[in-house]
Amino acid sequence: MEQKQFQAESKRMLDLMIHSIYTHKEIFLRELISNASDAIDKLYFRSLTDDQVGTKPEDFCIELRPDKDARTLTITDNGIGMTAEELEQNLGVIAHSGSRAFKAENDLGDNADIIGQFGVGFYSAFMVAKRVTVRTRAYGSDKAYIWQSEGVEGYTVDTCDKETVGTEIVLELLDDTDDEHYSEYLEEYRLRQLVKKYSDYIRFPIRMETTSRRKVEGTEDQYEDVREIETLNSMVPIWKKNRNELTDADYNAFYHEKFIDYTDPLMHIHSRSEGTVTYNSLLYIPAKAPYDYYSKEYEKGLQLYASGVMIMEKCPDLLPDHFSFVRGLVDSEDLSLNISREMLQHDRQLKLIAKSLEKSIKNELAKLLKSDRAKYEEFWKAFGIQIKLGIYNGFGMNKELLQDLLLFHGSACDSAEGFSTLQEYVDRMRDEQKYIYYAAGESVTRCASLPAAELVRDKGFEVLYLTDRVDEFAIQVMREFAGKEFKNVSGGDLGLESDEDKTALEEKNAAAKDLFEEMQKTLTGKVTAVRLSGRLKTHAVCLSSEGQISLEMEKVLNDMPAGEKVQAQRVLELNPEHPVFAVLQRLFAEDKDKLAKYTELLYQQALLIEGMPVEDPVALSKMICDLMV
Ligand code: ADP
Repeated sequence: MEQKQFQAESKRMLDLMIHSIYTHKEIFLRELISNASDAIDKLYFRSLTDDQVGTKPEDFCIELRPDKDARTLTITDNGIGMTAEELEQNLGVIAHSGSRAFKAENDLGDNADIIGQFGVGFYSAFMVAKRVTVRTRAYGSDKAYIWQSEGVEGYTVDTCDKETVGTEIVLELLDDTDDEHYSEYLEEYRLRQLVKKYSDYIRFPIRMETTSRRKVEGTEDQYEDVREIETLNSMVPIWKKNRNELTDADYNAFYHEKFIDYTDPLMHIHSRSEGTVTYNSLLYIPAKAPYDYYSKEYEKGLQLYASGVMIMEKCPDLLPDHFSFVRGLVDSEDLSLNISREMLQHDRQLKLIAKSLEKSIKNELAKLLKSDRAKYEEFWKAFGIQIKLGIYNGFGMNKELLQDLLLFHGSACDSAEGFSTLQEYVDRMRDEQKYIYYAAGESVTRCASLPAAELVRDKGFEVLYLTDRVDEFAIQVMREFAGKEFKNVSGGDLGLESDEDKTALEEKNAAAKDLFEEMQKTLTGKVTAVRLSGRLKTHAVCLSSEGQISLEMEKVLNDMPAGEKVQAQRVLELNPEHPVFAVLQRLFAEDKDKLAKYTELLYQQALLIEGMPVEDPVALSKMICDLMV
């Protein structure tokens, strides 16, 4: 019979399995049982709607058969089986699980131990077996196939006889060495222990014929060995167990295995709801955003079970976009098993579940914010942008739900990395303070050094520093928090001046009206006005904006690949107390050419201060040099 080669990557994977110094070889059993359970799931699901299947629901099971004489361990399932093509495709080519562990191994260097935290799939059988034989018959087929392999050399496939649908895997165990006692996988107690440890929640019975000593009936002291079929697993899925029976380690182990993330989740939310809808849910907040999280490729969703049967791998309708980072599953008795995806979308029960999950995610996050700030900030760094996008994208619809979860940097925070909630800001507000002030820019340092921010701080008010691009958009959609309006320090009236100050400024502006008209001529198309402002303290000049679009928003919007270019209505503001203003006044009377140059220069400086590109750096540089000589 022709020996076939494994696909190159599979070969490497196999190599890794066989030569792994990996100590938890025992997980091979978990992997094979999990495959068997998946295969049964598929046929079980069919059997509910298809009379042809024949197997009764209670007859689905996985069987373990250790044979000490032959030194084999056989794992049998009456699941869906594999066709010849599937056999070739699934076992000849590296499977998903394999590639995961593979990736991890490559990412994390030589730490072979790490693969134990993953599903390593079918190939893990080669960690304990010198030869693996798979006999399988697919549902709906009258042909059966035998697949055999001794590892990297390749594998063979042939037809064989098999009465029943399903798969049987025979492991011929490796010889014992000084360090490794493969024989232990032939011991009943050991197999029982492993099933309890890794596969207890598998929904189908895992059975094994075991021996127990019993008193012979009718005798006083005679005992005999009785062989009986024992079910090794409790079959209660973790999400149906009582919370107080479970430890963090249990939850985390389930997470690693189920969601293939080797970092411990930040937290889990395990709940049962009985009311308008009945469901169990087990949700996790990952500690880190997956690499593709903020991309179009990322698919949100929760696993959906109807009465313990998985009906959908990723149901997007269960999660709102603002909580799309949540992983987990929902199991409900109120959903029908053979519901189609289309119908599911409109299902009333599902909508109710989604609503209630949304509420509980929000509540748990809010609780975390109160109880463990450091952890919450970790969460925020990973997923805060998504929450802010949620406010923006919902046009404010999600404001009530999400606003308490927001964190921003700010002038009152201990460090540039520190955060403040909006409530904390408001609680610290002074009686005379009208607004929640914020400055927007690409970093905390940048925001803090804006001239207008300096002034507001100087008056004794806090300034929030909005450093994410979405921030200002979200803030604009919210408009206010706890009745306090948001105010960009670089736009409009900051409400800081007394009426007298305002009148005085207006008078000064009126007096310099001609000067400003002249300056504006130089800046036609660039600014809509030139004026004196109360916004400046030590700086001579700044840019502010009028209207809906701020300078920061202009930057963000114009950075987007599609869409029309926008321009904020810019105002060039001058500091009346700064000596430069006096110079301008003098030039207006004496030297209009020079005034034009200075005006241009001031405008370019204001752009730089705002973190905006100057229009012509070469011309600007030349202008400065001209002035120097
Ligand atoms: P994974 O289970 O993560 O997909 P594996 O390497 O464990 O990766 O298995 C590869 C594929 O082989 C499975 O996805 C499944 O299609 C098939 N398979 C494995 N074991 C069985 C089985 N007992 N019955 C039917 N199909 C199986």
